[in-house]
Amino acid sequence: VKLVDNIQRMSMLSKILKKEGKSIGFVPTMGYLHDGHMSLVRAARQHTDVVVISIFVNPAQFGPGEDLQKYPKDIKHDEEMAGLAGADVLFCPSISEMYPEGYATYINVEHLTETLCGKSRPEHFRGVATVVAKLFGIVKPDIAYFGQKDAQQAAVIKKMSEDLNMDVEIKVLPIAREKDGLAMSSRNVYLSAAERKDAVCLKEALDKAESAIKAGERDPKVIINGMKKLIASKANARIDYIEVVDPKNLRPIVPLSGDILIAMAVFIGNTRLIDNATVKI
Ligand code: AMP
Repeated sequence: VKLVDNIQRMSMLSKILKKEGKSIGFVPTMGYLHDGHMSLVRAARQHTDVVVISIFVNPAQFGPGEDLQKYPKDIKHDEEMAGLAGADVLFCPSISEMYPEGYATYINVEHLTETLCGKSRPEHFRGVATVVAKLFGIVKPDIAYFGQKDAQQAAVIKKMSEDLNMDVEIKVLPIAREKDGLAMSSRNVYLSAAERKDAVCLKEALDKAESAIKAGERDPKVIINGMKKLIASKANARIDYIEVVDPKNLRPIVPLSGDILIAMAVFIGNTRLIDNATVKI
């Protein structure tokens, strides 16, 4: 893979590729790449001529007291992973170039950003929307790939690109999981051995909810309480939120019908993990 660490060079490269008639597939990430990221890269590899991965730990999407300073980094490992998955370009801009002194423009996607993770991370999606808009402007992708792992983020990005007439197709791919069901995440590296065991409770709670729905339960309260009970049995787990919502507008659905998103954030020790499942009734 070709390493590009400068905005102007990335932008020029994309312009040249477009002139040559090449399609660009784009996978924005915060690095410390794992197989979840790679599933997006592999999809991009299939659909587009040139695959660009960005690595940028975006300060604008971290709140005070969050893990910006200790977010894991390993560029050598990332380069290797990117190469193996068949990416062409690894774009790693610096913070000072992305947010130079006097930077003043932020994107606020209303409504969708106020629920779920938006409640405990009030500035988060403003930071996400802003950086993704900037990256789209630099990389100029035809198709951009996001993970269903961050279901709310995917909904926000879709809405932003639709509302702002960004000429980018947004594709959302399924959650990649470890063998025991834990959703892959760069943050899993924070977990101690005991916490890692308890972390499976997110997926177990989602499976329990899905079974209850399949067995005919339609009251979201009953479903959420069942999930809470399971998670409460793990010493290291503390629930941030569990909600059952419409996957498009992220508003609660009562009683349950149609397409349903069960979304959750749970602290395992000090590490905040998210997971979700979609169910069709
Ligand atoms: P991140 O580096 O955590 O910001 O993630 C970059 C992209 O990879 C986002 O679109 C995520 O939704 C996606 N992603 C992260 N983890 C997974 C996973 N386990 N499965 C699928 N996609 C993922």
